[in-house]
Amino acid sequence: MVQSANLGFPRIGLKRELKKATESYWKGELDYLALRKLGADLRVRHWRLQRDLGIEIIPSNDFSFYDQVLDTTAMLGAVPPRYRNDGAGNSVKFSPSARTSNAYAMMADVAETAEVQGSVDLDTYFAMARGSAAAPAMEMTKWFDTNYHYIVPEFYEDQEFRLASRKAIDEFKEAKALGIHTRPVLVGPITFLSLGKAKSADLDPLALIERVLPVYTEVLTTLASEGADWVQIDEPILGTDLNDAQRDAFRKAYAALSKCGLKILVATYFERLDDNLSLVAALPIDGLHIDLVRAPEQLASVLSVWPKSRTLSLGVIDGRNIWRADLDAAFSLVEKAIAARGPDSLQIAPSCSLLHAPVDLDSETKLDDELKSWLAFSKQKLAELAALTHAANNGKQAAEEAFAASAAAVKSRASSARVHDVNVAARLAGSSSGDANRAGSFEQRQAKQRKRFALPKFPTTTIGSFPQTEEVRKARAAHRRRDIDDATYDAFLMKETENAISVQENLGIDVLVHGEFERNDMVEYFGEQLSGFVFTQNGWVQSYGSRYVKPPIIFGDVSRPKPMTVRWSAYAQSLTTKPIKGMLTGPVTILQWSFVRDDQPRSVTCRQIAFAIRDEVVDLEKAGIGIIQIDEPALREGLPIRLKDREAYLKWAVECFRLTAAGASDLTQIHTHMCYGEFNDIMEAIAALDADVISIETSRSQMELLDGFSEFKYPNEIGPGVYDIHSPRCPCVGEMTNLIAKARERLAPEQIWINPDCGLKTRKWDEVLPALKNMVEAARKMRENT
Ligand code: GLN
Ligand code: ZN
Repeated sequence: MVQSANLGFPRIGLKRELKKATESYWKGELDYLALRKLGADLRVRHWRLQRDLGIEIIPSNDFSFYDQVLDTTAMLGAVPPRYRNDGAGNSVKFSPSARTSNAYAMMADVAETAEVQGSVDLDTYFAMARGSAAAPAMEMTKWFDTNYHYIVPEFYEDQEFRLASRKAIDEFKEAKALGIHTRPVLVGPITFLSLGKAKSADLDPLALIERVLPVYTEVLTTLASEGADWVQIDEPILGTDLNDAQRDAFRKAYAALSKCGLKILVATYFERLDDNLSLVAALPIDGLHIDLVRAPEQLASVLSVWPKSRTLSLGVIDGRNIWRADLDAAFSLVEKAIAARGPDSLQIAPSCSLLHAPVDLDSETKLDDELKSWLAFSKQKLAELAALTHAANNGKQAAEEAFAASAAAVKSRASSARVHDVNVAARLAGSSSGDANRAGSFEQRQAKQRKRFALPKFPTTTIGSFPQTEEVRKARAAHRRRDIDDATYDAFLMKETENAISVQENLGIDVLVHGEFERNDMVEYFGEQLSGFVFTQNGWVQSYGSRYVKPPIIFGDVSRPKPMTVRWSAYAQSLTTKPIKGMLTGPVTILQWSFVRDDQPRSVTCRQIAFAIRDEVVDLEKAGIGIIQIDEPALREGLPIRLKDREAYLKWAVECFRLTAAGASDLTQIHTHMCYGEFNDIMEAIAALDADVISIETSRSQMELLDGFSEFKYPNEIGPGVYDIHSPRCPCVGEMTNLIAKARERLAPEQIWINPDCGLKTRKWDEVLPALKNMVEAARKMRENT
């Protein structure tokens, strides 16, 4: 019989209970036991929900108070030295006074046993994630190509591991006590080590494999003795290009883990296995999960090498998006698998953990029926899994209703005039490659723009937003609730903008911004004004820790019915003789931070957005705005997982940016902005954007990020951030002139702009004012000395 299986359920709670509880705990408003109870309640609710939906294989240890990779760090006792009590490598001891904060010990009400001694307590756990007074947080980065961020493991010389969190075991027992037999989930050892960072010069994280295996072995054997029969070990690293060390580590690791007395399913997702398939097939494991949403074409090759005797889990329901599945299409994949190997030891699953999908569509009350019929959140996805499994075992007619509803949704989406706009299609079809080129070369544009703006050397500017104060947020919320009318809200925004302009004039900044007070979020603000977008009330997904995002849904062809930002930029320009920089979000970033259509390539959706934003560029120019910034902080994160797919992505992503910018004449200066990230390996693409000015986050890297630009002989102008806006600390003039001097070593003086690292919306005015005053002073000093 075919079985339905889930790989992970969102942990945040339908009403974002986990966020509220963890944040109250951090503020000291909720005690440890109440937090622990909330976690347990969520787990129980989610296990029961999955069982009631008919899911046969239900995961445990998919819950986390912060992040599953950090949970693994805790499990392995890999707490970096700076968080340890004595600062010298001895672990935090479980003392009676620390008892109320000993999360994993308390979690299962274990008494003060030997195992509990030295386990990682919850406050240490949160300190690693968020930093403490004594020690800065561990680094955080994106989980493969998702918007989920994990806490990057750190490895030190003489790194040791020991079982320091029994969470996986405790949560298995917790479910078992409820009568639910789960398949525990662990982040796999090779993925864990591969994603970590060595903190000593010649340490290769993969070389630590021998040392982590005893802990994994202990966890698996304990799980087996507690009655677990299967474990799901997530190894998404198998979707990447592996080196020999990783391959060896795989063979070593699974040879050892296969002897622990329970069956292992290795879960791969986000990419096709490709050349890693033979490696996986040779591992002594009992089951394999493959992502057939991202890579349906890999089914045939997997079927040809994966033996019938071993379990195969088919990821046919999209765990990363919000669309209702095309059940007929999914079922044809299942049928292929059944035809090749029979129904036994076959599982039907989401493509990946549902961590990346919102919780429940039923809680959306404002979407119209038609749109709603096109969507499925986690709960609905599990129902789809159950229907597919039922059909696999009893024939399609047994699940007729679900298949009919799915087919109707597919049909209405395919033909709906809300989705397909002939004008958008005609515009894309009629565009030529020349549309992506500006009239003149960079040198020609630069000469014209220099004449037009006559800016001093080392011109100063900011990245766009000014503080989103309590007052600003309150006014926006009141306007949303209709507690204040449009006119009142408008007057308020005008006053804020006026203030921002006069502040910038008094500081002596050269290129001003209007401040973005009218914007809630840099994608939502545009999405709300573009056709083809819809917003949910509750479609939250975890981005990191207690930060969740509610991405817009791009459901249809994108166009811009009317100007979106012209009014605020033009108003700001009417208040000053200095140039105002118009502020737009670029097409790649809008695409990347939304749920996107699955009925056309991402590149097509991106191109549609590009034309819509291009229209805005043209209108800003007409309104007399001579400088326009098109933010693309997400350009890099859209990079495909597989190296060989990257060139194609960069080609269309760059082209979309250029399409957006090329609506402008040579006299208009186009800026772009990107946040922190490596640029060295994508320098060619950065240069191909051909923005007149690019600002990047560089202060924390001491300008080292500019090495790539200087090696590449990047010709256009650059604003390397001269101070870190993520810190409330005010940088002094000397620090900034030092940084600018470092930039000078790498760039020509005529190339350099002076600006902060990023937007200032998260800062307070009394932090921003002295910092910008010093920044302007630093620029003045540089001018004097050059
Ligand atoms: N213009 C935006 C701002 O200043 C840019 C934000 C970003 O780069 N993430 O807020
Ligand atoms: Zn930024």
